[in-house]
Amino acid sequence: MKPVKPGSRRRKIILYYTLAVVLPGIVLGYLAYRGIRNDQALREKESLRRLEMNSQAFFNEIDTSFVQFINKQTDDPMLSIARKSDPSVLVFFVKDSSGSKKLITHQLLYLPAELLTIEPEQPGLFSSLKEGSRLEFVERKYAEALRFYQGIILRTVNQEEKIQALVASAGLYNKMNQPDKAKTLYYEMQEDYQGQLLNGQIPIELMAGLEIMKINLASKETIELKNNRKQYLKLLLNPSCEYSPDQFNMFYQSFKEIITENDPVIDSLFQQLDTQSARTDYLIRILTEPELAFSNVNDHLIESKNEIYSKSVNSSELAAVFISWNKNNDTQTGLVIDFPVYLKSLSEKLINKLNPDSSINIKIEDDDGKLIFSKVLKEETSYLSFPFPENLPKWELLLSENKPGFIATLFRTGSGIYLFVFILIALFMILGFAFIMYTLNVELRLNKLKSEFISNVSHELKSPLTTIRMMTEMLYHNRVETEERKSAYYSAMLEESEHLSHLIDNILDFSRMDDDRKKYDFTDVNLDELLLKFLESSRERLKEQGFNIRYENPDKVPLIRGDRDAILQVFHNLIDNAIKFSGTSRVIDVTLSRRDNEIVFCVKDYGIGISAKDQKRIFDRFYRGDKPQKLGIKGSGIGLTIVKQIVEAHGGTIAIESEVDKGSRITVRIPLDGTLH
Ligand code: ADP
Repeated sequence: MKPVKPGSRRRKIILYYTLAVVLPGIVLGYLAYRGIRNDQALREKESLRRLEMNSQAFFNEIDTSFVQFINKQTDDPMLSIARKSDPSVLVFFVKDSSGSKKLITHQLLYLPAELLTIEPEQPGLFSSLKEGSRLEFVERKYAEALRFYQGIILRTVNQEEKIQALVASAGLYNKMNQPDKAKTLYYEMQEDYQGQLLNGQIPIELMAGLEIMKINLASKETIELKNNRKQYLKLLLNPSCEYSPDQFNMFYQSFKEIITENDPVIDSLFQQLDTQSARTDYLIRILTEPELAFSNVNDHLIESKNEIYSKSVNSSELAAVFISWNKNNDTQTGLVIDFPVYLKSLSEKLINKLNPDSSINIKIEDDDGKLIFSKVLKEETSYLSFPFPENLPKWELLLSENKPGFIATLFRTGSGIYLFVFILIALFMILGFAFIMYTLNVELRLNKLKSEFISNVSHELKSPLTTIRMMTEMLYHNRVETEERKSAYYSAMLEESEHLSHLIDNILDFSRMDDDRKKYDFTDVNLDELLLKFLESSRERLKEQGFNIRYENPDKVPLIRGDRDAILQVFHNLIDNAIKFSGTSRVIDVTLSRRDNEIVFCVKDYGIGISAKDQKRIFDRFYRGDKPQKLGIKGSGIGLTIVKQIVEAHGGTIAIESEVDKGSRITVRIPLDGTLH
């Protein structure tokens, strides 16, 4: 047997693994990495170009849309107030040659006196109501005064007179401790006079609302007050009629006094009112004193297309664009556009048009870095920034492409080669792993078998040696008395030493065969004679053990070319096995016959048999069946390996037929062809 050092085997495995797996893996991995890096650089360049083109397209679209938007605003030759206003138009006005201004549309909270459409009247009582006032305030006859006012309400056709009578009646109900009736009257007034002014200056809805809230507060109607304060604050924020800053301030202050409780919704409404009011003040300044509004040196109007001047407004209250143009040479038109609102609605449309598959993340930030608009699919850090064109506010457009993940890059079209390389590396690794596992398994199994073999062989050698030693001692000390017994001892010792030498022959042969050193000496061999001689030599031993060997030789077999000693070893091993594994049976059939062109040698026993699982492996080196091991039958697992090798060296085959507990038949066939005489 060839000695194999475990260390050298391990080194070999490591070397193979390094050569077969690690080196190609490193080379392929490096190539793939280089490829992907190059690809990435190319893609980044492409992405940069795409982003630049996108920003250009975006700004071009904004420019065209802006011109269209302004054209739409200017296309009405009359610039009538009835025109439908756009949510992004904050103020739209015309100034005639005399310098007087007219508002076309606006989103102001209140208006300066010169821009109010309705002339405020001096507050004063209708003469017809004077009698009621006398009854109420001088004579303090409340019931009579009430009847008087109600008569007027029913009679009059004058709206102003009716409102005054209604207000007076509601006041009287309050004085007469009938707040519910007063409240009903105020609710009615709100209903009937929506968007109307008392004396041309007091908004009726708000006035009635304030009175209702006062009653709510006095009568501790908390739930109703809660609903009302929200509703009236919203009304103040979205006025339904035009009134002066004084009116606004009056209501704002009164509401502040009444609404003292803390509530997030109310707080936010007050906050909106504050911002809107600051905005309104700024817009009124643009309307009335543009020189003051644009006092900054850089605040000059920039002329753009068609003699239209535009100017971006960036104040703390407002981010807007002021546009001005002359119409028919005698009127000047001004337009203030709420730029965030305009851009938000526009961007939504443009982005879907420019970037339908949403592969680009888009953000718009104002000059303070505040986010105005954002359409981001996946948060990226590397945004490219593009400033807005000159006539628009100094904002920035931020673009970034959605970068695909590593796996996505691999699966992108054009990256097929890298995918292939990665699959190849993975395949190498898996194959390498399987190879290592297989080699290790073989190694481990072989090691186990080898150590079993050593212990088995030692046992097998030990028992004949012990017998020989024991008998030699007996003879040496003259403890064997009769000559007959002495000769039996000598014969037993001879037999045991023959058995010993057979065992050693087996081991030496096995070792020679394992590293191809076994040499055969082919001569003419008479198998029949050889077999008879062998059976004769072991007759004594077999007789002692009670074995009956039935030998049959139906045909006269011819001489064959073969190695005498090797063939003798085949007989020895096979018949030895038949004896060893006979169990309780004591009959063995040995047949030597000729069939066509071959010699058939057959050994049949009626012993323990071989399981189907063992039949597949009993010719493997060191393999021993499960059953013999369980039964404690000695053996080394190399006998059949040697037999098979010898038979094959003679061009023959060996076959087993066996059934557990019924016995086994081992058949050796040796072809006659060249050897026939
Ligand atoms: P050994 O006999 O020393 O164990 P062998 O190589 O001669 O080794 O045989 C291998 C195995 O084959 C045996 O351990 C036994 O399980 C099985 N075997 C061989 N011959 C027989 C037989 N005649 N009957 C039952 N089992 C057998």
